[in-house]
Amino acid sequence: MGIASSPEKTRTLFVIKSDKSRKHNFSDMFSGSYDLIETTFSKDSTELLRKHFSEISLIVIDTADNADVSINFIREIEADQKFRAVPVIIIADDSLEKEEERFLAEGVSAFTTYSTRQNLILLQTANLINLRENAETGIVSDIDEVTGLFNRFAFFRVADTILEDNPDDEFVIYISEVDGIKGYNEKNGKEAGDALLRTIGEYMRNIGDECLAAGRFAGDQFVSLFRKDEKLNSRLLELNVNEAYSFFKGDAGIDKLRIRCAIYEDIEHGIPISETCDRALLALQTIRGKYGKTIVHYEASVLSEHRKKERIEDSMKEALEQNQFRVFYQPKHDVNTGELTGAEALIRWVHPDFGFMSPGEFIPVFEQNGFISEVDNFVWNRTCQNLNRWIKKGLKVVPISINASRIDFMKPDFFDNLHRASTEMNVPPQLLHIEVTESLFTDQMDELVEILTKCQKNGYKIELDDFGSGYSSLNTLSVLPLDIVKMDMSLVKAITNFKNMRVFSACINLAKSLGLKTVSEGVETNEQMWTIRELGGDAIQGYLYSKPLSEDDFEKYLIESTSDQN
Ligand code: C2E
Ligand code: CA
Ligand code: CA
Repeated sequence: MGIASSPEKTRTLFVIKSDKSRKHNFSDMFSGSYDLIETTFSKDSTELLRKHFSEISLIVIDTADNADVSINFIREIEADQKFRAVPVIIIADDSLEKEEERFLAEGVSAFTTYSTRQNLILLQTANLINLRENAETGIVSDIDEVTGLFNRFAFFRVADTILEDNPDDEFVIYISEVDGIKGYNEKNGKEAGDALLRTIGEYMRNIGDECLAAGRFAGDQFVSLFRKDEKLNSRLLELNVNEAYSFFKGDAGIDKLRIRCAIYEDIEHGIPISETCDRALLALQTIRGKYGKTIVHYEASVLSEHRKKERIEDSMKEALEQNQFRVFYQPKHDVNTGELTGAEALIRWVHPDFGFMSPGEFIPVFEQNGFISEVDNFVWNRTCQNLNRWIKKGLKVVPISINASRIDFMKPDFFDNLHRASTEMNVPPQLLHIEVTESLFTDQMDELVEILTKCQKNGYKIELDDFGSGYSSLNTLSVLPLDIVKMDMSLVKAITNFKNMRVFSACINLAKSLGLKTVSEGVETNEQMWTIRELGGDAIQGYLYSKPLSEDDFEKYLIESTSDQN
């Protein structure tokens, strides 16, 4: 395959730059061999790309030192089916070298940096264009060499044709994912790994007589297309998966393999198969990591949730800039005296389209994409400002706890940031608590203990959140530097029955024996309060006293509660 260094037909590159890229002029380099359409990142750049789409052989993104702007752009264009075949090459500032993997994971074809030799960039560019053109003319094989199944694009093409040719028939897509192949490869070598993939491939192809096309996506994902008929209903597919599963465990003697499957029934004609597969993969994601769940049926809600998630991600940065987040405060009271002893900061989002949103809707998204650390930082700063304001007004303030997430602790400047914020606002550390959850402490335990100890030594109290929910490990209580344990709402709700009450009581006593105070969460009734008092709890938080309150309402609450005490 020759290098298109002096192509007989001049190809066109779409070159997109950020403001900071201009000093490195790659346009000169490319303009010797290609026609260029140049633009900078803006609202109109995708429009421009769409307009010239048919002329473009390759997209060059000169991202300078800003990875996010390029990744957003890539996601935007990748969302459009027709752009997926166009290769993308990234040229980045050397400081982004570590981001290569992230870019490749987004589907870019090649990643280079400013220090890459220019002729290497040109060779890569030419190779990518060649590869694409050859693939389009069918020179590149349609067949996955390892399994003999179609590769991704061939599967799409074949399946789309089948659907187009049979507009009145109903079809089913079946996507499966096999966990553990990597481990198997490492243990048994690549050849054995390939043989295993072939066996799985066979299995996928022979699931029913009606398999019309079967393919392997990259790595461990398999896809098959069936005609939907009596013989091959989804129940049968389920049986097959279970059978395959037992086969791997039993006959093949491989017990570390796990299979997950998504079934997309009644696939819609007119929607490209690639899109249908994307949707099935979304459904598959929902059972990833869920033990014992092997089969999921695609439902429209998966897509609407995914779209909502995308909209949340699209609007989150703006939300912070435009002050759409609100910090609410939920009071904590002494269970014996009723005195106001503290509050927990809880975030809300007043979204321009979705309205008032609870954290349950967006926090998981932020935890996944890392934005949570900016939000937590905002909550911390805002709370320091509020405390400063209330102290200046002469109010009798109480300690406020702020929720911290796993990602917060991965930032090397976590402590410095929060300590700076409270110092600048003259808020004594005693007025700030940090709530952490057990799920934080899966790995990197030592580092976390170190950071929390530093916080504690500087006067910030540490609360262990959600104790007793999920898989509590008693170990956490002794390993972590803690001051307070928050009994999870589920424990409190359960104390109506005697046995559960004993469990609750044991938890309180355990905390006490370690010298820790307790806060019981989600207390809604007087009965719960009396029981907690009886069992020796310290503080309670819940609707019995108050829901989380806006800043203004909490200020009033502070004034009223503390004036009661005088
Ligand atoms: P959490 O930290 O366990 O917060 C307690 C949740 O229980 C709050 O829900 C609160 O409104 C609710 N709650 C309080 N009392 C009662 C009650 O008596 N009955 C019932 N049914 N519920 C009660 P919210 O505000 O929706 O927050 C949900 C979760 O979102 C929080 O659980 C926390 O994990 C997370 N979250 C909230 N704000 C932040 C934040 O600023 N940063 C981080 N990282 N996470 C946050
Ligand atoms: Ca909390
Ligand atoms: Ca909690």
